[in-house]
Amino acid sequence: LFAGWFAKPTHPKAANETTAGHVIDGLNRLRRKFTRLPHLAGTEQNLRYAEQIRKEWLEFGLDAVEMVPYDVLLSYPNKSQPNYISIVDRFGIEVFNTSLAEPVPEGYEDVADIVPPYSAFSAKGQPEGDLVYVNYGRTEDFFQLEEMNITVTGRIVIVRYGQIFRGNKVKNAMSAGAKGIIMFSDPADYSAAGVQPYPDGWNLPGGGAQRGNVLRLDGAGDPLTPGYPAKEYTYRLSLENAVGLPNIPVHPIGYHDAIHLLKKVRMNIHTNSQVTRIYNVIGRIRGAVEPDRYVILGGHRDAWVFGGIDPMSGAAVVHETVRGFGLLRSKGWRPRRTLIFASWDAEEFGLQGSTEWAEDNAKVLQERAVAYVNADSAIEGMYTLRVDCTPSLHTLVYNLTKQIASPEEGEEGISLYDSWHKRDNWTADRDAPRISKLGSGSDFEAYFIRLGIAAARARYTKDRKTEWYSSYPVYHSVYETFEVVDRFYDPTFKRLRAVAQVRGGLVFQLADSQLLPLDVNQYADSLGKYAQSIAREAQKHPEEMEMYGVSFDSLFSAVRNFSVAAGDFHERLQSLNRVRAVNDQLMYLERAFIDPLGLPGRPFYRHVIFAPSRHNKYVGQSFPGINDELFDIKNSADPKKAWDEVKRQISVAAFTVHAAAMTLTPPA
Ligand code: GLU
Ligand code: CA
Ligand code: ZN
Ligand code: ZN
Repeated sequence: LFAGWFAKPTHPKAANETTAGHVIDGLNRLRRKFTRLPHLAGTEQNLRYAEQIRKEWLEFGLDAVEMVPYDVLLSYPNKSQPNYISIVDRFGIEVFNTSLAEPVPEGYEDVADIVPPYSAFSAKGQPEGDLVYVNYGRTEDFFQLEEMNITVTGRIVIVRYGQIFRGNKVKNAMSAGAKGIIMFSDPADYSAAGVQPYPDGWNLPGGGAQRGNVLRLDGAGDPLTPGYPAKEYTYRLSLENAVGLPNIPVHPIGYHDAIHLLKKVRMNIHTNSQVTRIYNVIGRIRGAVEPDRYVILGGHRDAWVFGGIDPMSGAAVVHETVRGFGLLRSKGWRPRRTLIFASWDAEEFGLQGSTEWAEDNAKVLQERAVAYVNADSAIEGMYTLRVDCTPSLHTLVYNLTKQIASPEEGEEGISLYDSWHKRDNWTADRDAPRISKLGSGSDFEAYFIRLGIAAARARYTKDRKTEWYSSYPVYHSVYETFEVVDRFYDPTFKRLRAVAQVRGGLVFQLADSQLLPLDVNQYADSLGKYAQSIAREAQKHPEEMEMYGVSFDSLFSAVRNFSVAAGDFHERLQSLNRVRAVNDQLMYLERAFIDPLGLPGRPFYRHVIFAPSRHNKYVGQSFPGINDELFDIKNSADPKKAWDEVKRQISVAAFTVHAAAMTLTPPA
């Protein structure tokens, strides 16, 4: 079954359609089964789903499946004291209150334990004050308010969702001195034109609101145990010293409530933080030839409510992939390398399950992990494929998608690659489908940015040219049901299947190819482009560059060394005699970009080439160290010091690229 996803069918008649049908059934059944009940991290139900997954993975034929618990800091509303926002009159009397819950969709009326919309890790408090509207709450929005002489100090800000990770909004509001922050879903950002609100369409109803954590972890994982796994014996920081918690109340609302809030308000927030047990499920198939080399496929299981899209459309892909590999196992097959499958917990609370496991296993992973493929939501739109990955995986992604069929109606006989290329060309850079840099906001973060393991994610997405709304309208609301995918996003489940083929295919090739399918020439190309682009950024300040003697020569020279080393390396692959040795060079290349000291002020972001943007955790920034020092440098209080720091960051980048190039040269 699984082989049929990317190999030519052996019997002419038992063609792809039968195989396809099975996979679709599997995805379908699985998603239906695991989206009936809410399964928030730390709840009984999410543990039950974990146990069920463990049992089924064993039945599918994995060699071993274990439950791995951690005790981490989570955050829940207080059941006896609901969170809400009120408009108060001049006597302090509440004359309007926001809703305490979303109207529950049809068919789910009797479901217990739907957590009301809240901002996880909000501070407690009942601040009262005038509201200031701060647009998306981005860095540039706060700059603009400053220019307009509008102060938010001592006030409550109201911000619309979208454009950037909500944790960055909260951080910006805090830094500007706000004493509370209300986040709302504006129909301008969460309703597509001509689409009905759920259940008649896939738009967010006015009573819907987006849950989500508002932490600023910068890769730390559990806020109480940065750097070390949150086991029973582990030392825990006090709440005051926890990493990344906001110190002001935060609360999300829908647009029906938001239109009322234009005056003086009071926030009533009673959310509690508490150390809670979470469970990762970890399954393995031992590699036949290189058991000490690991390829990981991981995605989260915890959901804000039902998780119809996020994460179960992705968890279904992992489950089906495990089933596929299990079937191959039953025919006597074993992958060359060891496969690890993970069902992560508490992703929604700040990537905690995946980060704790990365901390727990850091030493082993550093030595043995070849690649990590992420499997969060498989769909966020109906238009085409979206891939974010490390440059050395570009070639594999292209080769693989050329062998997968387009899931689109009327594109029979066309490859996923061609369908994707037609819809999202990389234009300026090259004539190929667009692939983006990895940012963060999902479980690959610790593997790629902290540990330096080659990583990729893939999903079906919307049309970036015409669909401006953020994520997808019902994101993190109670309306993320099985039905929203079944009825609107992917009625035939062919898009989900295509995503399963991409994710499963990546893992299959990485685990089973004799020579690792990593292309270091692609890394050289990307480094060249990123170096050009960061130098161009600095050259916006020609006088300062001259005055302070800032030069990018060392970086360009390191990139040239890298390109030569990469070219020679691939040349030598033609006449290769020790596969294991070159495979190790390929595997360790990503590791070579890790700086053990981390980026300035962000010790867990250690990749010198890529980090989540400081202004938006969701997007990737290349040469983040240099970039952050250049940001807003014209307003720096001490230009000499600022440009000195730019110089230091250029030298760190140049050294790292050069050192990485050296790992590609012959050992002696
Ligand atoms: N995926 C979750 C979100 O976007 C968690 C992201 C994170 O904490 O980095 O809300
Ligand atoms: Ca930890
Ligand atoms: Zn998710
Ligand atoms: Zn999510």
